[in-house]
Amino acid sequence: MSGKRAGRTAELATNLARVEERISRACDIAGRARSEVTLVVVTKTYPAEDVRDLAGFGLRQFAENRDQEAAPKAAACADLPLNWHFVGQLQTNKVRSVVRYADYVHSVDRLRLVSALSSAVTRLGRGPVHCLIQVALEKEGQKPDEAGHSGRGGVAPEGVAELADAVAAAPGLRLAGLMTVAPLSGAYAGAPAAAFERIGEISRSLRERHPAANMVSAGMSADLEEAIIAGATHVRVGSAVLGVRPTLG
Ligand SMILES: *Cc1c(COP(=O)(O)O)cnc(C)c1O
Repeated sequence: MSGKRAGRTAELATNLARVEERISRACDIAGRARSEVTLVVVTKTYPAEDVRDLAGFGLRQFAENRDQEAAPKAAACADLPLNWHFVGQLQTNKVRSVVRYADYVHSVDRLRLVSALSSAVTRLGRGPVHCLIQVALEKEGQKPDEAGHSGRGGVAPEGVAELADAVAAAPGLRLAGLMTVAPLSGAYAGAPAAAFERIGEISRSLRERHPAANMVSAGMSADLEEAIIAGATHVRVGSAVLGVRPTLG
């Protein structure tokens, strides 16, 4: 191993230990077992070698937000026992590629995408893809046409039930739960703890109809503690493990 690679591996180990410590401490504060929270590492903009190092530390859950980057990276790691999570806005013309490697899609936010995912999975003949409805809390109270699909992805809380029913009924898909990103605008801007409490409430009402849909994917590098305290089952952490990204993404 080159000195440069060894240095990077050590850096990842240090960063990961720090994130693990933060997760454990938040679990303690919340009175939750560490095993109730899964760390999903978001490797966007970082190379497959970093994924390989992290897999060597025992991590299995990895996420990407762009198919163009994710597809080759997942292929480069195909010999490892990993689960890939797709967490970015997903265009229907990318769906056939995404279902070749992704076991989880966190960004389901419209009916058109549900039918595209379902037919792609069925055609490929693979096992089910676990789908999370992405909730845009900043769109709360907006009519679906106003909310549209411009800007960041996600459906308004009012649209969750209809999408969830569609996923649950779709061949090849499993309704896994909800995903959210702390809003930058609207009533929850700058208030991630309140946002994550709200997603917890929406999750409870979802589970009245779909008891198995118990994943709550919330919390990133800046706010994973707030998410865990509010009940998140999956935190999506990029920069705190891999470093600040050189480009936007
Ligand atoms: C990049 C990204 C993350 C991770 O963000 P960090 O702030 O780097 O931890 C989480 N979720 C989504 C949807 C992302 O695109």
